[in-house]
Amino acid sequence: MKSDFKKPIATRPSFAAEDAAAQHRSLGAAALSLAGGLPLQEGYEDRMEALSRAMLEELGEEPSREGLVQTPKRVAKAMRFLTSGYDADIAEIVNGAVFDAEDYRELVLVRDVEFYSLCEHHLLPFFGKVSVAYLPGEKIIGLSKIPRLVDVFARRLQVQERFTKQIADSLEEIISPRGVAVLATGFHLCMAMRGVEKQASQTTTTAFTGDFQRDERRRKEFLGLLKTRQQEPLGF
Ligand SMILES: [Zn+2]
Repeated sequence: MKSDFKKPIATRPSFAAEDAAAQHRSLGAAALSLAGGLPLQEGYEDRMEALSRAMLEELGEEPSREGLVQTPKRVAKAMRFLTSGYDADIAEIVNGAVFDAEDYRELVLVRDVEFYSLCEHHLLPFFGKVSVAYLPGEKIIGLSKIPRLVDVFARRLQVQERFTKQIADSLEEIISPRGVAVLATGFHLCMAMRGVEKQASQTTTTAFTGDFQRDERRRKEFLGLLKTRQQEPLGF
């Protein structure tokens, strides 16, 4: 799980295999409703570099000094990566990793997935951990795909509330489970750095669908599991 977190997402889908194309069609609705934005326009890098250079000038800096010469290029590249979730193809990401649930009916939990995102109000980072659980219906999803989905929604300009809900909605659309529960805890640099005197505060958001929304016992089961630490493998 941990090693998957840093993997880049494929942002330019290409469907070579027939079955990939077939699954893509079957997930068409999900791909459409969860799409983040339009594909990048021609000349993106050049324009982002020019904007970054202009910002440095406005800040009273000298963009030609040694330490800043390459900065506009780096900023363009970093912003491209940090917002790559807009044109990530969810159907392609989950392709081949949706399986028959067989007789498994109980809760599946992937906990403490790291995320790094940018708040849409200040373009400053917020980051933390998110735990995602679902109750399988007919299908289960490859466990490593859940952190990949988290990355898709983290790598957009976000508010933590929407980020949390989009993770739940995407699982709803991909595997139609009996319910999804998501709990995210984030640390917002826009709060910590801007002189808002709440430097250590964290923000918790939740999203519940299906049985988790209807049944308080299911919510308690989820929240109870998040409290247990004694069964963690390898001391993580
Ligand atoms: Zn903010």
